[in-house]
Amino acid sequence: MGGKGEGLIPSYLIEVLKNMFEGLEVTDNTSKTPEMFLQDIKEETGRLLGLFVTGIASNRQEEKLFNYIGIIKGSEGGEEWCEKVISNAFREYKAEPLDKETARDLYGDLLTVSVSTLERFAACRYAHFVAYGLALKEREEYGLESVDMGNLSHDVLERVGQKLQSENLDFSTADEEEMIKEIDAAIEHLTDEYNGDLLVSDEKTKYYARQLQRIMRRTVKTLGFQLSKGKYKPEMYETAFKKMYDLSSDGTDTKRVILKGRIDRADVFDDEKTEYVKIIDYKSSAHKLDAQKLEEGLSLQLAIYMKNAIEMIKERYPGKEVLPAAMLYYAIDDPFSDKREEYEAEIRKQLIPVGAVVNDDKILESLDETLLTPGAKSEVIKVSRNKDKSISKGSNVCSMEEFNSMLEKAEEKAKELASDVLSGSIDINPYYEKKEDYACRYCALKGICGFDPKIKGYEYRQFGEAGIEEDEE
Ligand code: SF4
Repeated sequence: MGGKGEGLIPSYLIEVLKNMFEGLEVTDNTSKTPEMFLQDIKEETGRLLGLFVTGIASNRQEEKLFNYIGIIKGSEGGEEWCEKVISNAFREYKAEPLDKETARDLYGDLLTVSVSTLERFAACRYAHFVAYGLALKEREEYGLESVDMGNLSHDVLERVGQKLQSENLDFSTADEEEMIKEIDAAIEHLTDEYNGDLLVSDEKTKYYARQLQRIMRRTVKTLGFQLSKGKYKPEMYETAFKKMYDLSSDGTDTKRVILKGRIDRADVFDDEKTEYVKIIDYKSSAHKLDAQKLEEGLSLQLAIYMKNAIEMIKERYPGKEVLPAAMLYYAIDDPFSDKREEYEAEIRKQLIPVGAVVNDDKILESLDETLLTPGAKSEVIKVSRNKDKSISKGSNVCSMEEFNSMLEKAEEKAKELASDVLSGSIDINPYYEKKEDYACRYCALKGICGFDPKIKGYEYRQFGEAGIEEDEE
């Protein structure tokens, strides 16, 4: 090419490519048609309009923009094109709730909602409205691989846990071979249930079933180890709860919510007059208990499950004091370590549950007896002691008051969110914490809801330190 972009001699690559691909046709794209030029002008107009609307266009860019608009208007259909693009550029989003009658038709005065659904509402009200108000669903795919492995893992743990409980055993006291048999039986049963006989022989299904089997074997072994270190016994597996709250602030309206959920596992340490409670929430990916997310309503489950577990255990043990000890997330996984020596210890380290533990010597030592020793580092909770027996920095501990305050805050936030659902709030208000964690990241409504931070009125509900940076499409 010459200095002005004009062709001089054909590139040798054309011959090379022609030899590689028989019958390849060579076309010259350097000469543009008037339509192609017009298309380029339209694209540039869109860009300049964006700068103009946001008030950052230079005088030269403004002049260029008006020239281009003049050119486009003179073309066929150009008037309409300009009208549409300009009105879109000046569009402004204003959040409006549903009117009272529509909200009442959709939800009534009594909302029955799961804690996880309220978390979805807290993430983006509009996404919740589409999924639960309009009940729109993504097209379902069939096959074991499309079923959330998390659901399957929960089902396996529930079946195995309950079977052991019926024999007065748990993950720490049962024979490993027996547990493996139970896992295999549970997976076989669930595979049939999810896929129907038709797909049982499918190779992909077998692959996912084997993967699940491997993860479950690792899980029960690790849960057994974690239980063996403390004084707790599983009391409840996959236990559902429902609780009704009156939402009227001044007694003038009749709104109520029934909050429901399922506690994956609650363990109890029976200490004469007191029952200490530890709950475990199984997750299919790593989670941490984040105070900011709890306040935003994005992470309510652990605290609300704990509150309900305490109430249920109070009913089971009348006359006893019931106190919280720990609420923990356990990430179901079969991780890998390249450290050949102490391989098992390395894997166990990766699977330590995270969350909040009450900072009280008796409670800490009931969760892991090794914490009696100065300098000890627990292998089952994220807590370690310094040589003077004080708690090391970075341990997952908080005072009993802080712990109880989290339970109260989560419940209050859940009530506030439920009240907003009933009031018909459908704001497009996605949260943004960081590039790896924001409401729109995996949302199927992207491109449908109209959210665009470049348009006035749309903005992320941002918390955390990170600047806004979205995933590449
Ligand atoms: S893409 Fe984002 S803004 Fe749109 S509905 Fe989903 S979460 Fe809300």
